[in-house]
Amino acid sequence: MADADACAAGDDDDDDVRMWQYALVTCPWLFKACPSCSPSHTGREVLMTYFDPTRPAARGLCGYCPGRAAAAAAAAPRGLLQIRRSTYHEVVKAADLGRMADVTGIQHYVINGAKVLFLRPRPQPRPPKGVAAPSRCVVDGRQLMDGAARFCSLQCKLEGDDPAHGRGRRAGDAACRGGGR
Ligand SMILES: [Zn+2]
Ligand SMILES: [Zn+2]
Repeated sequence: MADADACAAGDDDDDDVRMWQYALVTCPWLFKACPSCSPSHTGREVLMTYFDPTRPAARGLCGYCPGRAAAAAAAAPRGLLQIRRSTYHEVVKAADLGRMADVTGIQHYVINGAKVLFLRPRPQPRPPKGVAAPSRCVVDGRQLMDGAARFCSLQCKLEGDDPAHGRGRRAGDAACRGGGR
């Protein structure tokens, strides 16, 4: 089967990119106060929002972290990924993530003038009356406004591209996430 061959030949770089994306969509520290910096700083900048794709298992960095510049340099040429929040949902700039990973098929949204995409599925917004959504997320059926989009979020793209891998990772992460938010 052509499919099996393609799978066996899948290269390690692709796997690495998938692995850190799984870490990103499940990471437990997003927008928590940075333990290293919060005693001496306050405000939004002290929340951990920087993800290092070269060290996906590491804790995130905040705006005050002294190691941030060094980490960004180490993660070059992609740099650190900054996660933002929109109405309590985590988003990344489409251009930022697009530099590091394949974001084809993920629905983009424009928020504050920037093209962003959601890390995880959101609760289904009420569909506008009388308007049929041109597309749906192939993983969870959420309505999408872009006819060419196939996924509502990065997490759905990871699962849609590789359902078996997605399930295995999530089972492992659930145990590690035990503490909850
Ligand atoms: Zn910090
Ligand atoms: Zn979805």
